[in-house]
Amino acid sequence: MADDHTFHMAPDEFRRHGRSVIDWIADYMATVEAMPVLSQDRPGAVRARLPAHPPEHGEPFETVLSDLTSVILPGVTHWQSPNFFAFFPANVSGPSVLGELVSAALGIQGMLWTTSPACTELETHMLDWIVDMLDLPATFGSGGPGGGVIQDSASSASLCALLAARERVTEGAADKLGVGGALTVYASSQAHSSIEKAVRIAGLGSDNYRVVDVDDAQRMRPEALEAAIAGDVVAGVTPCMVVATVGTTSSMAMDPLRAIGEVCRRFDVWLHVDAAMAGTAAVCPELRGLHDGLELANSYCFNPHKWMFVNFDCDCFYVADRRPLVAALSILPEYLRNAASEAGDVVDYRDWQVPLGRRFRSLKLWFVIRHYGVEGLRHHVREHIAIAADLAKWVEAERDFELAAPVSLNLVCFRHRGGDAFNQALLERVNASGAMYLTHTVLDGSYTLRVSVGGTNTTRAHVEAAWDRICAAASAPEGLVP
Ligand code: PLP
Repeated sequence: MADDHTFHMAPDEFRRHGRSVIDWIADYMATVEAMPVLSQDRPGAVRARLPAHPPEHGEPFETVLSDLTSVILPGVTHWQSPNFFAFFPANVSGPSVLGELVSAALGIQGMLWTTSPACTELETHMLDWIVDMLDLPATFGSGGPGGGVIQDSASSASLCALLAARERVTEGAADKLGVGGALTVYASSQAHSSIEKAVRIAGLGSDNYRVVDVDDAQRMRPEALEAAIAGDVVAGVTPCMVVATVGTTSSMAMDPLRAIGEVCRRFDVWLHVDAAMAGTAAVCPELRGLHDGLELANSYCFNPHKWMFVNFDCDCFYVADRRPLVAALSILPEYLRNAASEAGDVVDYRDWQVPLGRRFRSLKLWFVIRHYGVEGLRHHVREHIAIAADLAKWVEAERDFELAAPVSLNLVCFRHRGGDAFNQALLERVNASGAMYLTHTVLDGSYTLRVSVGGTNTTRAHVEAAWDRICAAASAPEGLVP
């Protein structure tokens, strides 16, 4: 006799609980502004609220949902608060969350075209749409030798760029590393740490990571790059890849792409451009100067999961020539063989990334781009930039504060004239208030506060209130003076 007992959630139950989850999320979106931005929990507090052992018997879903509020939420730092100004935005939107939900429900593995044609084809199509939207070089489109792919993160994109560059410079002998001697990678002192991490993961060795000097606006100095590469060539070392950053993490500095690209062409070195945060700005025609020279790049990435209202994870990675990338990452076991791949008519994105499996992430792009339209995305990006420009004016108007770097896009770096310890205490005080969350960096050797404006619901009023609070905290300095 068949045992028809099941522990699964039936479709009707799912419909009911799903509605409560959507209600929970909508309530969260509507009320997050009132919550302390930085979690007030101490280390271990979340675990202390959880039972030590898993339940033997399934529990009612209502209990799980109510524990979400009481057990989990206090330990959440609210990246979606309009008063979140730390690090960089990771802005979420309704259409993106719904796209994620559908992707989860379909639960496909899109490693091969044949394992879900829609996953591959929608992805290729969205990446082509983005070439249009940001006016990227046509070589990154799917019509020629290059193309785009979604990676989980800019870190993975930069690693894949390095693996492709290594493949190219060793002429296919990359997996026998050592052939051709040491390979070097170049990036400025302001490049993201993921570049050095890629060098380590790829086995090139940290000693072969060259940190190139920057000018007084934190931009890579092309003449310093040229000298470093020329010196390595003379020493018999092989330059493998240069990474230029469009929008550095600390201060949103823009490396001069064209001059860097020309150096790379002279020495025939792979140029990867990391525009993780800033790339979205190119949706606005008047800001496309930030990509000037991008046609000289071999690869490029930016993160819709930072500033384009797409929830993590979604990095768009492009190559001008896909052959070295696919050569570096393709291994074909028997169990993945199929007629479509063998006919050579399709793209198999497993060959463009480190993992085999992949989610249907392009649904998020499709939902978001169709909901906002290019016009909607431009509107919000322009608004964030205008608010940051206002904040910069307010900083300049306060005698006790100064800008610490030229204001670039949506990031304002500033400091109080009271010195490093004062600024650190000021940061801790405003963050402890729960009213906002800022983070810091060090620029030109001095402790610097950063306000990154990019929250989905951040308005001028939120930034104005944050600035008033910073000024008030600085002018009541009990506890701020060391
Ligand atoms: N590159 C730059 C310029 C960044 O600002 C960041 C994130 O701060 C990264 C790379 C890393 O991004 P991801 O978390 O997508 O790896």
